[in-house]
Amino acid sequence: MIRNQPDEDLAIGVPLNRRRLKPVVPQRVRNLRKHLVEALRAVRTMKGPPSPLRPEPEGFAGQVVRAACTLCKGWCCKGGGEHAYLDERTLARVRDARPELDARAVLRLYADSVPEKAYDSSCIFHGERGCTLDRALRSDICNVYLCGELGDFVLGNVPARRVDLFAEHEGERRRSRVTRRPVQDG
Ligand code: SF4
Ligand code: SF4
Repeated sequence: MIRNQPDEDLAIGVPLNRRRLKPVVPQRVRNLRKHLVEALRAVRTMKGPPSPLRPEPEGFAGQVVRAACTLCKGWCCKGGGEHAYLDERTLARVRDARPELDARAVLRLYADSVPEKAYDSSCIFHGERGCTLDRALRSDICNVYLCGELGDFVLGNVPARRVDLFAEHEGERRRSRVTRRPVQDG
């Protein structure tokens, strides 16, 4: 657990994605479509509610999360493969939110979001500028996951005047800093 005072600075370490970008081959898109067809079928027999669409962290915590994930460039997306953690609960949420779309249109929505190039051995939606999927189309785990110290900072609502971020992997290290704006009087 991180302990800190509101007037202190805080250092948070995150991983660093050093994979290379590679063109997304058609087989990967076919695998994605197959996975989505199965998930859409499973919606019909699903028990329980659709997964909720959770909001991004707001305020200073939101600024820190955006800066950290930009610095890291999406290390945690490496397990996404061609399924991107999309399950029937996510697809049920998408179908509820977009009732005008039939199953084919939903598939197209996802296929159209695949970038031309994605990071090697990572999620099919992991493009140069991060995730190419709209937040409303992402799985619940993608919308809520925060790695180690970053998660502790947000979930613990840890106070800090300034957060020094550093990302590193195999000797490469990058830094960034987020400063809390002073509260304006009057
Ligand atoms: S949650 Fe952590 S591992 Fe994932 S992109 Fe953000 S900083 Fe990187
Ligand atoms: S869908 Fe987006 S957030 Fe989720 S693993 Fe893939 S690139 Fe990462």
